[in-house]
Amino acid sequence: MLNGVKRWITNAGVSEFYTVMAVTDAEKRAKGISAFVVEKSDEGVSFGAPEKKLGIKGSPTREVYLDNVRIPADRMIGAEGTGFETAMKTLDHTRVTIAAQAVGVAQGALDYALGYAKERQQFGKPIADFQGLQFLLADMGMKVEAARQMTYAAAGRSERGDADLTFFGAAAKCFASDVAMEVTTNAVQVLGGYGYTREYPVERMMRDAKITQIYEGTNQVQRIVMARQLLSGVQSEL
Ligand SMILES: Cc1cc2nc3c(=O)[nH]c(=O)nc-3n(C[C@H](O)[C@H](O)[C@H](O)COP(=O)(O)OP(=O)(O)OC[C@H]3O[C@@H](n4cnc5c(N)ncnc54)[C@H](O)[C@@H]3O)c2cc1C
Repeated sequence: MLNGVKRWITNAGVSEFYTVMAVTDAEKRAKGISAFVVEKSDEGVSFGAPEKKLGIKGSPTREVYLDNVRIPADRMIGAEGTGFETAMKTLDHTRVTIAAQAVGVAQGALDYALGYAKERQQFGKPIADFQGLQFLLADMGMKVEAARQMTYAAAGRSERGDADLTFFGAAAKCFASDVAMEVTTNAVQVLGGYGYTREYPVERMMRDAKITQIYEGTNQVQRIVMARQLLSGVQSEL
């Protein structure tokens, strides 16, 4: 019987299937957590109101309530007590997808800023002619490309299941999302006052970039993961 609430669930109420990590033996702490598949139609499953968010407004986020949800034994994923391990292993792979999301948002903002800089005239010439802006655009392009290459490097490790995936997944997610935040903020800068309005897409990209620094583990948590990997010697042994 599953009971509890989980906040911040993407696609809650839309998805048919939910992976739920539940405590099955409180005394065993991390080894007392098991993973289950819960279906939207299971009796006792309900959802909260949609969260009013800063960005990613096209992605619904709601609470999931489990109220005496009885599910058959074969809906346990893996053996009892392996839920935490499953969750951690899953994050190694899914963090790469957040890195990719961040690269996409950053690339979109860079593309828009480049086009705008060539069109917008000030002091009798396109603002793209000003070296101060060129240096900003160059840094944006350089960082987006570095984030993309790191994401590809992590994705390759995810495909192969390499031993250093934990480091690379965290590093790619952390780096790419920090780049996305910086690049989208600078894209708003390139558009000047227009960048700050909803008539242009870069303010939305800036708001959408922010979540990539937060979900799938905040970037503080990614740095904890990376430091542990480095200090445990996993990286240097490879
Ligand atoms: C839009 C959205 C969608 C989401 N979708 C999902 C989903 O589908 N499934 C799901 O399970 N979760 C989802 N989440 C949850 C998300 O993963 C968490 O919000 C995130 O991991 C941060 O956890 P928290 O909100 O509890 O922040 P907290 O843990 O309260 O963190 C608050 C601050 O403290 C810092 N902090 C916390 N611990 C440490 C530490 N040890 N060292 C240094 N700093 C620390 C954090 O970095 C952060 O800056 C979603 C969240 C949002 C906002």
